[in-house]
Amino acid sequence: MAAAAGPEIERLIQLLARLPGLGPRSARRAALFLIKKREQIMAPLAGAMQTAFDRIQICNNCGNIDTQSPCTICMDPRRDPAIIVVVADVADLWALERAHALNARYHVLGGTLSPLDGVGPQDLAIEALVSRAQDSAVTEVILALNATVDGQTTAHYITDLLQGANVKVTRLAHGVPVGGELDYLDEGTLAAAIRQRTPF
Ligand code: ZN
Repeated sequence: MAAAAGPEIERLIQLLARLPGLGPRSARRAALFLIKKREQIMAPLAGAMQTAFDRIQICNNCGNIDTQSPCTICMDPRRDPAIIVVVADVADLWALERAHALNARYHVLGGTLSPLDGVGPQDLAIEALVSRAQDSAVTEVILALNATVDGQTTAHYITDLLQGANVKVTRLAHGVPVGGELDYLDEGTLAAAIRQRTPF
C-alpha cells in the first residue's frame, strides 16, 4: 500500500502504533490529532517526553520510577517505614496509590517468577527485598501480587525466604469484588471468598 504521507509522518504513526492500546488505525487518528493540534498538544507533549526521558531514574531502594533516586515515596517522611508492599510492576504500585488504601513504602520486583518464560529469582529484585526486610524498622511485608499462578508462585517463594526475617508476611485477600454479584463470579473466586471469610 502506498504511504499517504511523507516518511516523517509515517514514522510518527508507526511509533504511536507501538503504544499499548493503540492499533494502526487509532495511531493514525492520534497522529492526525497531534498534527492538527501542533501548538497546543504536540509541542508540549514533545517537550514533556524529552524532559521525562532526560530525568527518569529507577529508585535504587525500591525500584520505583521517578525523576530522583531514592524516589519521592522512599523519601516521604509521612510514609510508614514499618510496612513494605511488594508489587511485580510499577503499574501495580500506581494502581495501589490510586486506591489510597495505605500509606506505606513499596518494593518493585520487576516481574514475577515464571519458569515457562525463563524468569528466575535472579531476574527479580528479590535479594534486595530480603535485605530491606531485615531492617528492624520493618514489621510487615504485604505481598500485593497478581492472583495468577506466577503471582502466587512468587508469593510462596518470597514467604519462604522471609522465614528468617522478623516480619509478618501478608498477602491481598482473594474474593468478591466491591459491587460484585455472586451469581456472576467464577467458581475459583467464590471458593476463595468462602475460604477467606471474615467475622462480621
Ligand atoms: Zn523508592
